Amino acid sequence: MFAAFYSGLRDANVQLIESLDHLGGQVSALYPYKTILDVGGHPGIQGKDLVKSLKKQMHMMHPTIRLNQAVRDIIPVDGGYQIVTDQTKTYTKAIVIATGGGAFNPRKLRAKNAEKFKNKQLFYSVHNLDQFKNKTVLVAGGGNSAIDNALLLNKVAKKVYLLHRRDTFRGFERMVDRVKQSSIELITPYLIRELNSTDDGKLLVTAKKMRTENDFRRIKVDDVVVNFGFVATNQAMRKWSLKLKGLLRKVDVNQQMKTNENLVYAVGDVAKYKGKDTLIATGFGEVPIAVNSIMRALYPKRRLPIHSTMLKH
Ligand SMILES: Cc1cc2nc3c(=O)[nH]c(=O)nc-3n(C[C@H](O)[C@H](O)[C@H](O)COP(=O)(O)OP(=O)(O)OC[C@H]3O[C@@H](n4cnc5c(N)ncnc54)[C@H](O)[C@@H]3O)c2cc1C
Repeated sequence: MFAAFYSGLRDANVQLIESLDHLGGQVSALYPYKTILDVGGHPGIQGKDLVKSLKKQMHMMHPTIRLNQAVRDIIPVDGGYQIVTDQTKTYTKAIVIATGGGAFNPRKLRAKNAEKFKNKQLFYSVHNLDQFKNKTVLVAGGGNSAIDNALLLNKVAKKVYLLHRRDTFRGFERMVDRVKQSSIELITPYLIRELNSTDDGKLLVTAKKMRTENDFRRIKVDDVVVNFGFVATNQAMRKWSLKLKGLLRKVDVNQQMKTNENLVYAVGDVAKYKGKDTLIATGFGEVPIAVNSIMRALYPKRRLPIHSTMLKH
């Protein structure tokens, strides 16, 4: 979104293509309610509010937004590239790839009947906190997302359980301490084996104690939130004749964020260079470098404005 905004600021016509049905990448999909502390200018901002601000800023430039479309291929043609998605073929002079860890999905709960309750009483993220107001909720997972969500839900829910398959949590110590000092009930070391409806419309969670044969615990709740991390795939990109780097097959870029292909640049988590940190602030910083390099390459005679106030909008 920041790349779409900045390209608009440089007078480019922009289309943004996103495979999910919503914008905001990992922030929207995985931690909309987490307070992000390390974005410049924000002493603390919830993920959803950062996404909202990015959208507002981006829409000032009126880019074309295509949701629910995964880019399958980029094909060099005269004067640029053809972008092939599962629905459209469009043309562009230059490309900024910002596909992060790839098209991603939450890691699923592997328990009997899990699919049956998905998006009804089983959720993989917390998008709308009000939906859990005065409810009994079980959060499953041991990392930062599970801990963040348990603490968050504890503010509105009647009762929150945090279930993890180990006795120790992987989240930040400070947050783990907050959980231990809160009214959240810990259930460890347990693994969810089965979900069932009860006569009064609740969900009966059957969990087995790790390393036991038949030490089961049954917990009656309204909803279950599972945060087991996510799996991402950059499979489509592997066909795009881009030089990829490392085990995670990220896109190799130079100091201008340029890939090995002419006028194809990469920013954010997907871009790899020595010393790279995969953080929001890093991605933001890479955007002007990439977009200004593109504009310089496309229009070498144009004077390059540096500050936003020098641009007419
Ligand atoms: C739990 C968690 C907590 C985090 N906390 C912080 C934090 O506190 N501070 C911080 O700075 N960073 C944090 N991060 C990292 C931060 O979220 C990432 O650095 C940031 O989201 C990267 O943004 P991006 O735009 O590069 O990629 P992403 O956010 O991954 O967005 C990429 C988008 O591209 C889409 N896409 C992928 N492939 C295709 C395709 N072929 N066609 C169309 N669309 C496609 C994806 O669906 C996705 O929406 C955290 C990450 C996680 C998982």
